[in-house]
Amino acid sequence: MSDTATQDPIATYVRPRAFKMLIGGEFVDADGGALSEALDPSTGEAVAEIPDASRADVARAVAAARAAQPAWEALGVDGRGACFERFGELLREHREELAMLDAIDSGNPVAAMRVDIDISMPYVRGWPQMARWVAGEVIPATPGNLHYTSFRPYGVVGRITAFNHPVMFAATRPLPALITGNCVVMKPAPQTALSTLGMARLVADAFPPGVMNVVSGGADPGDALVCDPDVKRIAFTGSVQTGLVIQRRAAESGHVKHISLELGGKNAMVLFPDTDLEEAVEGAIYGMNFNVCQGQSCGSNSRVLVHRRLYDEFVTRAAERLRAYAVGVAYDDATDMGPLVSAAHHERVSRYLEAGVQDGATLVTGGEHPRGAPAGGYYMTPAVFADVRSDMRIAREEIFGPVMSVLPWDGYDEMIELANSVDLGLTASVWTNDLDLAHKTADLLDAGYVWVNDSTRHYFGTPFGGTKNSGTGREESKEELLSYMETKVVHTRLRDPRAAFARIISS
Ligand code: NAD
Repeated sequence: MSDTATQDPIATYVRPRAFKMLIGGEFVDADGGALSEALDPSTGEAVAEIPDASRADVARAVAAARAAQPAWEALGVDGRGACFERFGELLREHREELAMLDAIDSGNPVAAMRVDIDISMPYVRGWPQMARWVAGEVIPATPGNLHYTSFRPYGVVGRITAFNHPVMFAATRPLPALITGNCVVMKPAPQTALSTLGMARLVADAFPPGVMNVVSGGADPGDALVCDPDVKRIAFTGSVQTGLVIQRRAAESGHVKHISLELGGKNAMVLFPDTDLEEAVEGAIYGMNFNVCQGQSCGSNSRVLVHRRLYDEFVTRAAERLRAYAVGVAYDDATDMGPLVSAAHHERVSRYLEAGVQDGATLVTGGEHPRGAPAGGYYMTPAVFADVRSDMRIAREEIFGPVMSVLPWDGYDEMIELANSVDLGLTASVWTNDLDLAHKTADLLDAGYVWVNDSTRHYFGTPFGGTKNSGTGREESKEELLSYMETKVVHTRLRDPRAAFARIISS
């Protein structure tokens, strides 16, 4: 990075740019010129303006996607994969710029956002490889008949994402829809749209016009995408509340839609008494994603269920480790943890801190504005609550912030009941050196993704998604690839070959 970029990344990466939407290969403002401010959570100051798409903009983006789709499908996996290769090269080239845009706009530390781009690369490479192996079946159901299946893309896919991993979501989430021959209209979250709009230049270079379109704005353009009759498939990442609205609005549109929902989590990390405590403390802190996105992660282990034998020592060590965290400006390389995404979200998380104290839990550390951090930023030091009971709000509801609730347990069945007592079931993790305990417990935990002696990591090819209110569908895997296609059966009645041959000879 140049000295100027280090000293003033906003002047280097944001001020000289105009952030436009990408519709049909053109960089455009919103219809009517509506704009919203992009805020820097590290200072609370506005740094740029982004287009606020109207419903007409969304309709134009859907029409562009629809027009581009037949030629895109006709390219085949190899042709589409060549565009992915180019896209990957461009992402690598623009890594620093995109990571900085994310740090400036989302408050996530720049070092973590560089990693988010790096961990996007296996997805850019992996989807074309996986798509090459998609094959239908020949079904030996009845003699004298041939049945086979094939897959067809839906056409236009609407992709709506949450605020917490902006560039990674933009770089990876549309890919399985694209490689299977669909065209996409992508809508990032309004709080953190800069890196997606910044990335649109790379998209325009790598993909034919209209194949991937980007519209910015909030609930209204999101709703327009959900209700558009030409969007048959919606893939959504966000809150349970919005997920339910999307299911309702899709039904009200009068068109049957295929909807996948990646929603919230209140994930249990279970520590057995034989766990290596130091490793588990590291795992819990790492698994909270404090230093990636301030704990604003669906997969964070925000409920740590610690066997009473280890409980006090776990709380002491975790709090000690977190007190040493450098909380500060997100685009400073020395920062461990940046600010929360917005003033409204800071307010929401602060209310949970108050609720925890009111309900009788002990706030062991955190929840403060760090000394020396800019006064206007939305900072909060990482918080640990002890003496948490299962009926408290901080033990039941997704906080989506840097707050870890630690609950004690004594008996095995009590622990399983505690772990499964919330209405979310995204992830869980089990920490023990006993193989029977690990696998039997993993089986009993009601969650879509369970780690043993690990936390938070995703691996391309392994299905990610939740049970209960955490969503429907699985991502990052074969299941997701197939979810962007409809199955078609071709049935042929096979007539007697001798009779058929005789007919040809006699004609
Ligand atoms: P949100 O639900 O407020 O917004 C998500 C997206 O939906 C945004 O782009 C928003 O503009 C759009 N939106 C809002 N109202 C809409 C409507 N009526 N119709 C269509 N689109 C609409 O969520 P958020 O605050 O951005 O993100 C936090 C939530 O996302 C948390 O609950 C978190 O757990 C969840 N999340 C889940 C995963 C996962 O993989 N399971 C990953 C990241 C975040």
